[in-house]
Amino acid sequence: MERQETVSRHFIEQIIDKDLAEGTYAKVVTRFPPEPNGYLHIGHAKSILLNYGLAQEYGGQFHLRFDDTNPTKEKTEFVSSITEDVKWLGADYGSDFFFASDYFEQMYEAAIKLIKKGKAYVCDLSADEIREYRGTLTEPGKNSPYRDRSIEENLNLFEGMKNGEYPDGSKVLRAKIDMNAPNINMRDPVLYRVAHMHHHNTGDKWCIYPMYDFAHPIEDAIEGVTHSICTLEFEDHRPLYDWVVRELEYPHPPKQIEFAKLFLKNVVTGKRYIKQLVEEGLVDGWDDPRLVSLSALRRRGFTPESIKLFMNLTGVSKAQSTCDYAMLEYCIREDLKMKANRMMAVLDPVKLVIDNYPEGRTEMLEIENNPENPALGNRSVSFSRELYIEREDFMEDPPKKYFRLFPGNEVRLKGAYYVKCIDVKKDEAGNIIEIHCTYDPDTKSGSGFEGRKVKGTIHWVDASNCMEAEVRLYENIVKEDEPVRNEDGSWNLNPNSLKVMQQCKLEKGFQEAKPGDSFQFIRNGYFCVDTKDTSRERLVFNRIVSLKSSYKPAGL
Ligand code: ATP
Ligand code: MG
Repeated sequence: MERQETVSRHFIEQIIDKDLAEGTYAKVVTRFPPEPNGYLHIGHAKSILLNYGLAQEYGGQFHLRFDDTNPTKEKTEFVSSITEDVKWLGADYGSDFFFASDYFEQMYEAAIKLIKKGKAYVCDLSADEIREYRGTLTEPGKNSPYRDRSIEENLNLFEGMKNGEYPDGSKVLRAKIDMNAPNINMRDPVLYRVAHMHHHNTGDKWCIYPMYDFAHPIEDAIEGVTHSICTLEFEDHRPLYDWVVRELEYPHPPKQIEFAKLFLKNVVTGKRYIKQLVEEGLVDGWDDPRLVSLSALRRRGFTPESIKLFMNLTGVSKAQSTCDYAMLEYCIREDLKMKANRMMAVLDPVKLVIDNYPEGRTEMLEIENNPENPALGNRSVSFSRELYIEREDFMEDPPKKYFRLFPGNEVRLKGAYYVKCIDVKKDEAGNIIEIHCTYDPDTKSGSGFEGRKVKGTIHWVDASNCMEAEVRLYENIVKEDEPVRNEDGSWNLNPNSLKVMQQCKLEKGFQEAKPGDSFQFIRNGYFCVDTKDTSRERLVFNRIVSLKSSYKPAGL
């Protein structure tokens, strides 16, 4: 049963199947229509991959269109970041790259067409009055006293609006629909407003700007979009969308379909919230690896493949739901499992000295890069008398079931020999500064040694032949199971969301690591070379995810 469900088609595919079967549309055209007013986040990735995926699936077209009809908030800076993110996700829009503001002329013509049909009028009520006349969910609205202006008068006034004859807020163009409509969006909604504002694309050419509900269906219709997919909050606006494309008499009108937004627990998803965190300096810009903007996820080390897998697991539906961040973590582990080399890095180093290993000697040990993927080959790792191991891999006074190093105990050094702890050296304050061991030369990894078994294997780095790096460990930016904002409006942020480890010791194999490269640090997780702060002198890693998982997808 469950199997069948996973291969069954989601509700949008079913709508498209039917439309194609009935000949409503000859081919499928979808679009992603971001407003260039911020960086894209994981929720947008859902919309991008859904729209692009459908265009691919049906051999159709996918458009990237900037919905830049609102001159106040938009910035060209965002156009380039959004374009980069869409490309990064692999949503190839080819030459179908558009700006809604390029259609201002056609939108103006469309408004004139409505006026001529007696379907739109210029209204002089103030914004407050319009709201008052609109009524409520339980009370009908009242007609505007300007509702019955003649077509001639409306055409003149609207032209005057366009020519800058009226101040901001003094007049609007409204659709003439029904002030008694049960759906408030249909009570003569505003189509155009006067706003003497500079627009990043059209400059000062226009001082009237179309409202979203009027502009969006026209944009879709002009581009020949067939299925205009948006999120649920637009469901109540669909009758208006349909009204606009019907009254404008487009031959193959697009249809709006709504699906549920993607929400992730313990992270900040709203563009508005992310913006506030950035502006208040609470994070290191839009690409701070603790955020879930796409640039942040990329910087943290998430791959497009991991995000696609995540979207497939979350599915498409009309039911609002919230996903666990752990599910996204599962997806990046799955993606990197076979791709990433597994290497040794010691985050919190303490010296380990092998007393019976000859001084000055260095051996090169062959270690598999990824035991699950032999295609990644082997590498040579140097081994000598002094090593670094994790401080937490040694305990002087261990509890039961502690299988790592403690006085008298033997462990395997990953890919190398068995060592047995014989002594510890401390500084005056009592801190352990050196762990002394002896090694057994017969236990070399891969030597076929069949003797006694040890329970613990720990990783290490050759102290005489290693490199240093800064490593950043992250926790979710919002405390588990708490809202982003407290009741008094203050932020509810996790004070431990960033932990910086300096002078971590890495095996020399990391010499070739380039910004953006990902590795597994054995036992410590997956890490990605930071693209922003890494330089020739300074190697910085972000932990993408630890190795422990709290999530398993259903059916596995
Ligand atoms: P936010 O709510 O974060 O400010 P937005 O909806 O204002 O985002 P737009 O640029 O208008 O951002 O969105 C572009 C497209 O992305 C829209 O079609 C919108 O429905 C979709 N989208 C936005 N957030 C999500 C989400 N969380 N899940 C799925 N799709 C989303
Ligand atoms: Mg928006």
